[in-house]
Amino acid sequence: MKCPACFNELTELQVGSLTVDACQGGCGGIWFDAFEMEKVDKEHEAAGEPLLNIRRDERLVVDPSRKRECPRCAGIKLHRHFFSAKRRVEVDQCPTAGATGSMPANWS
Ligand SMILES: [Zn+2]
Ligand SMILES: [Zn+2]
Repeated sequence: MKCPACFNELTELQVGSLTVDACQGGCGGIWFDAFEMEKVDKEHEAAGEPLLNIRRDERLVVDPSRKRECPRCAGIKLHRHFFSAKRRVEVDQCPTAGATGSMPANWS
C-alpha cells in the first residue's frame, strides 16, 4: 500500500493491540483503518507513543493543498478535517471505508 501523501511504501507498525500502516522514511504519516484512530486516541494514550517516533525524511516536502487519494479505494478522494479540537490533528478521511490518515504525522 502506498502513502497517499508522498507515495512511499507504507510499513506495518504495531501500536498496542492495533496494526497501523506508517510511512516510515517518507513523510512520517500514519494510516488507520476505520475506527482504529479513535481507539488509539481513547484507549492507548501510552501505546500511541511509537507513533511519535516514526522516521521521516526531513527533506521531503508534501504539498498540503493537493487532493489525496485513498490508498485502499481506487479513485476515491480523501476529505480533510480536524480529528479533534483537543489534539488539533489534521486528518484525511476516506468517505467510503471510514479509514483515516494523518499525513504527515503531527501528533502533539
Ligand atoms: Zn508519506
Ligand atoms: Zn477508501
